[in-house]
Amino acid sequence: MSYITSTKKISSAQSAYQYPLLIKSLMLSAQSRKSTKEIIYRDQFNMNYTTFFERVHRLANVLINSGVKPGDTIGVLDWDSHRYLECFYAIPMIGAVLHMVNVRLSAEQILYTMKHAEDSIVLIHNDFLPLIEPLEDQLCSVERYIQLSDKQHENIDTSLASIGDYETLLFEAESHYDFPDFDEDSVATTFYTTGTTGDPKGVFFTHKQLVLHTLNEMAMLGCYGENGLLRETDVYMPATPMFHVHAWGVPYVATMLGIKQVYPGKYEPELMVQLQQNEGVTFSHCVPTVLQLLLTSKAARNINFNGWKLLTGGAAPTLNLVRQAAEKGIELSTGYGMSETCPLLTITRLSQAESTLSLLDQSEARIRTGCPVNMVNLKIIDDDGEAVSHDGESVGEVVVRAPWLTQSYYREALKGEELWQGGWLHTGDVASISAAGIVQIKDRIKDVIKTGGEWVSSLDLENLISSHPNINAVAVVGLPDEQWDERPCAMVVLNNDSDLFSVNVLENYLLKYVLSGQITKWTIPSRVVIVEEIPKTSIGKIDKKLIRSKLIN
Ligand code: AMP
Repeated sequence: MSYITSTKKISSAQSAYQYPLLIKSLMLSAQSRKSTKEIIYRDQFNMNYTTFFERVHRLANVLINSGVKPGDTIGVLDWDSHRYLECFYAIPMIGAVLHMVNVRLSAEQILYTMKHAEDSIVLIHNDFLPLIEPLEDQLCSVERYIQLSDKQHENIDTSLASIGDYETLLFEAESHYDFPDFDEDSVATTFYTTGTTGDPKGVFFTHKQLVLHTLNEMAMLGCYGENGLLRETDVYMPATPMFHVHAWGVPYVATMLGIKQVYPGKYEPELMVQLQQNEGVTFSHCVPTVLQLLLTSKAARNINFNGWKLLTGGAAPTLNLVRQAAEKGIELSTGYGMSETCPLLTITRLSQAESTLSLLDQSEARIRTGCPVNMVNLKIIDDDGEAVSHDGESVGEVVVRAPWLTQSYYREALKGEELWQGGWLHTGDVASISAAGIVQIKDRIKDVIKTGGEWVSSLDLENLISSHPNINAVAVVGLPDEQWDERPCAMVVLNNDSDLFSVNVLENYLLKYVLSGQITKWTIPSRVVIVEEIPKTSIGKIDKKLIRSKLIN
């Protein structure tokens, strides 16, 4: 790609204000409108936006008084809460870096991420004290801890160097902080992603990237489709943890809109369903397995969720799941992205004809990975780096450019270069793209099954198997095979009331798809393992690495 340097530049007036794209600018509109909507934490706490903004100022003063300097990294270990939302703003707004610690990793991995990120102050929910107390000696960079509690002004004894309880510190702090300007390319947030091998890797995002991502996500969620997914009349509740890619950036959008927000704390499906009903939640987002948990919770049994718009992502939803959701009145859309991409890359868009169908009949369109969102330059390339044809069939790796992609991995320059080969971020995902520009993820490159020279998409196969009435959940992986290189193996969870199930039952079921030409006979799994639960990753996605190692050993 060529680059020209001789473009016209006009000098600015000396007193012109060079507006930096900082996270503090995302608060301005709701602040000046004095939104009276509520921000709620479970059934325990609520406040309006005026109080929220004041608490952000108070938190900034607490951090500054505790010795935080611009460029320091502040770790947060909390459930999804109003406190976390306050950290989303106050920490980057004083020029520090918010490290969203993934509390679902193993203790060893949590220790690794906190040491690697060099957290200097850590805000920690009392629930995680038993996890961190034994690690304190090894967390050499951490100077102080601030305790978070669900009870107002609660003091729980800890061996950590705690300076006190969050609520008390906030109460005692000044209610105004003069947030400074600084370079919009300063790092605002970081968190760690766990790949298939090696230690977790730190991704990082600047103020400018988060501002652009927020503006774009707001446009994508609000402007497209007949009703949009998230607008100023909506009520928002995340169901993707806030430590996972800033809850996909939606808290920033919701706060900018000044809408009612509901934070569910520790994920308990029964409580989340109650909150959705009682607080009138109309928009949430989650990985497919969390949706499955919500739909099968006791609380959901006799409920119709009419009007609940849900964005699923992080993994491919099955057709069966989208249909179950539609039958319960949930309007489901699919988004695609990854930790490295802030995350939004694509989102479901229905054609005009599809929009006129019933919600249930829209299911097939709604599980498509979707179209690239504004400003995302997405290509699917073959092994020679050439773009594949837009025929919905040719497959290759998804590579992207967008203004909000992590520019490397923190202190892992070589891995960063691998991610960014040739100036394109390599997602490691295999996909096709149709003539209408609709992307369909087929698999992770590492999860594609190669059997007898054939190429099998584990996601396509999961989709077909999950439509069997006896099957509640499924994961398909390729296992080494001397003759065929690899063979597909299915791990399934049966529905409570289903009869005995075997590889033959599944084979007979899949045969109809072989006869119709949808799959080849080599695609039928040669092994079916029935389990109580499919192993999941720290954010509730199917953990194929773990499944493979369990099945091989
Ligand atoms: P993470 O970095 O943990 O968020 O994982 C990102 C990965 O999740 C992507 O590279 C994809 O493999 C997968 N993923 C995310 N969204 C989708 C989707 N809509 N369909 C299929 N896979 C997805």
